[in-house]
Amino acid sequence: MLDDAGLQALREAARLSPDNLPLRRHLAEQLLTKGYLADAEAEFRAALLLAPKDPDISAGLAEAFVRQSAHGAALSALEPFLASPGYPPRMGVLAARALLGEGDFGRAAYRYHEAISRDASVADPELAARLTTPVAPSVPAAPAQPATSPADAPSGAEVEKSKVTFADVAGMDAVKEALRVKLLLPLQQPELFAAYGKRAGGGVLMYGPPGAGKTHLARAAAGELGAAFVNVGLSDILDMYVGSSERNLRATFDLARRNRPCVLFFDEVDALAARRSDMRQAHTRQLVNQFLAELDGVDQDANEGVLVLAATNAPWYIDVAFRRPGRFDQLVFVPPPDTSARAAILRLLCRDKPLAEMDFDAVARVTDHFVGADLKGVVDRAVEVKLQQSISAGRPIPMNTHDLLAVAQNTRPTAVREWLATARNYVLHANESGAWDELMPWIKGKW
Ligand code: ADP
Repeated sequence: MLDDAGLQALREAARLSPDNLPLRRHLAEQLLTKGYLADAEAEFRAALLLAPKDPDISAGLAEAFVRQSAHGAALSALEPFLASPGYPPRMGVLAARALLGEGDFGRAAYRYHEAISRDASVADPELAARLTTPVAPSVPAAPAQPATSPADAPSGAEVEKSKVTFADVAGMDAVKEALRVKLLLPLQQPELFAAYGKRAGGGVLMYGPPGAGKTHLARAAAGELGAAFVNVGLSDILDMYVGSSERNLRATFDLARRNRPCVLFFDEVDALAARRSDMRQAHTRQLVNQFLAELDGVDQDANEGVLVLAATNAPWYIDVAFRRPGRFDQLVFVPPPDTSARAAILRLLCRDKPLAEMDFDAVARVTDHFVGADLKGVVDRAVEVKLQQSISAGRPIPMNTHDLLAVAQNTRPTAVREWLATARNYVLHANESGAWDELMPWIKGKW
């Protein structure tokens, strides 16, 4: 029982008018403030049923989770928002606390600094102190210069042999063509390029909503080329020690150079290549400078045969220096799939499953705003259901249109609409250089 009369009264009022959203929200916040965390969690959940996408309620729920050390649950509550740039800074701080709770120091520090660079009022000195970058014992404290790393310095990233090619990427013809011209032709036909005095080089920055297939495309580009594939995530690079992130970055480039031809793919690159003007801390600027230096290479041939691809959901955060020739000089928009692309993705995802009649077009029509990752989720869940049925029946039952439709109708797509709304805010009035031309029809269109 609650020992606070005011709270009791609030709770009673909420019980009498369960659909009164402002009341329930107020009750949840009061419970949180007074430290009744489990009760607050329950109330935020109830409020979320009334207003499913409300960022304040989601943040409240996440805070209730964080304070109960349910870090994974907190991150799940925040994730749909964190995918869109411009998410509420308070959520960034909560995510940082949850990430730190999970021991993911690098991402925690990134989220925290990103959040307070947008809104200093959400700063949390206690958290900041826990995130303060300690200096690695082996690195001189001042000046905090990145040490040159030995060639065999460990890098978290690993070399893969890609098993997928462009044939495994449904639709996206324009994107595939852009990658082909930029990455594949120069390596496949070097004489032709040499004859025109053009060198292969420069990277491609893919941007678009989360789950639209950027990583899948990068892996397919490597497979198409028969090149090695190095998939670099933030946790492979970001490190709590001053100078260590720079060393990791160098080691990763060296790994790619030792395995050429190689596609070196940076996911969530906005965290490594953010605008330096937004950064408060010198050591984060240093990482950006190191990244630029690695892209340029110490000499002309340093990155020969290393194709650098990067992906971001937030291209507007990237320092313009990265877009200069020889760096990520091509921007490619990876759009959400239209109806026919969705049908093609579904067909691909189901190709090795036991199928009865299957009308992929019908499923594509009811999955407006679903991206590739959402469709994969639908197929995976439908397969699970079918597997259960098959186990009960003692014989394999093939999947049909109805199975996919049933799951699709009960699934909410991730944040494409929100992503496009955010993109609109960023680019509508900032397209002087034409950098966002590919995106324009989407943000001005039906979305
Ligand atoms: P992103 O990197 O843009 O967040 P991913 O590449 O991780 O998205 O996509 C998630 C999953 O969705 C992929 O592993 C793949 O299975 C599926 N997918 C996305 N787009 C396509 C596509 N065009 N064709 C086939 N599968 C796709």
